[in-house]
Amino acid sequence: MTIKQSEVEIADTALERGYVEPVVPSRLTGKTVAVVGSGPAGLAAAQQLTRAGHTVAVYERDDRVGGLLRYGIPDFKMEKHLVDFRIEQMEAEGTRFYPSTEIGADITWAALRESYDAVVVATGAMVPRDLPVPGRSLGGIHFAMDYLVQSNKAVVSDEVPDQIRADGKHVVILGGGDTGADCIGTAHRHGAKSVTTLAIGKELPRERPGHEPWPMDPRIFEMSSAHEEGGEVQWLASTVEFSGDENGNVRALKVAETEYREDGSRGPKPGTEREIPADLVFLALGFTGAEQETLDSQVGMEFTSRGAVGRTEDYQTNVEGIFTVGDAGRGASLVVWAIAEGRAAASKVDEYLEGSTRLPYPVKPSDRAISLT
Ligand SMILES: Cc1cc2nc3c(=O)[nH]c(=O)nc-3n(C[C@H](O)[C@H](O)[C@H](O)COP(=O)(O)OP(=O)(O)OC[C@H]3O[C@@H](n4cnc5c(N)ncnc54)[C@H](O)[C@@H]3O)c2cc1C
Repeated sequence: MTIKQSEVEIADTALERGYVEPVVPSRLTGKTVAVVGSGPAGLAAAQQLTRAGHTVAVYERDDRVGGLLRYGIPDFKMEKHLVDFRIEQMEAEGTRFYPSTEIGADITWAALRESYDAVVVATGAMVPRDLPVPGRSLGGIHFAMDYLVQSNKAVVSDEVPDQIRADGKHVVILGGGDTGADCIGTAHRHGAKSVTTLAIGKELPRERPGHEPWPMDPRIFEMSSAHEEGGEVQWLASTVEFSGDENGNVRALKVAETEYREDGSRGPKPGTEREIPADLVFLALGFTGAEQETLDSQVGMEFTSRGAVGRTEDYQTNVEGIFTVGDAGRGASLVVWAIAEGRAAASKVDEYLEGSTRLPYPVKPSDRAISLT
């Protein structure tokens, strides 16, 4: 049965017919919670906590609320009126939003903790993985998020000085995940001359392989609408060097075939180098974790060896009264996990503030699947 399609239809119809209304709490607890970061994890936590009767403030350093739903994922994949609708519903329920406010800079983490009964860190995992090979500092080589954020702002007619644009250019994208796919779709919309994605690993199968039967999570090529629209994917491609022109801008990439070595490592195979023309390069190589500096220096936050904010099974960090959810505590993941974690963490925050809770607890930080209980 097409469960996903049924759920989408129910949700869309409910929105169209105006069945999704604000749920205003019947009593206030007098407790206050600050949620830092307004991506899906922060929004989910804030909505549950507001509905439980707490007074909730959401702080966001961007000029608009929504996190990666707003400025990462392009409109062709998710239209922003859906985010706006949820924000309006939350405002009507009583959640307060403070955009253009960076915690750690405009307000310190320590001052925030002192002012609120609890704090939820939902700041995402925004530190991009770099590729420190020769030529990296040439013009025209950008982190994918710089391109996507600017493009999302331009779509809503914001003024974006010196916007990175792909019109008439040979675009090369390093990395084959969701971020890379969003760059493909955006570059095509800008009118790129060619769009090539380079993936360092082996070609992934298009269909579920026999050794990974349902319900296992198979490693297959995630074909998105952006891939269907065009562009080429080259597998086993290790970037060795960027070459530039006389103006200091990127002109080409030197790429070698990836070899898998006996010690388990992989790298460029000597003697297989070739050149790929490139006027614009986007690094979509994933994220190394949460931003640590101010959390560490201002409240002594502890982090895992993988760059995430450390936490217990109850979403609590090592700092009393501070919780963490979504990509900040889990590492770069998916919207569905961010929402599930936000809702679960809200129940733990409610329990911390009130001694007990009636909010649902859908998922533990370590769970691989979402429990339906
Ligand atoms: C380009 C791209 C495409 C993606 N596509 C998909 C997809 O198709 N499907 C899917 O399921 N997932 C996708 N993902 C992953 C998904 O977007 C994330 O897993 C999800 O948004 C994480 O939610 P979050 O709330 O934890 O963090 P985020 O959405 O990253 O939000 C964190 C927010 O915190 C704010 N912030 C950070 N520090 C501070 C501070 N000090 N003070 C105030 N605010 C702060 C940031 O500005 C940001 O708005 C994609 C990710 C990217 C980058």
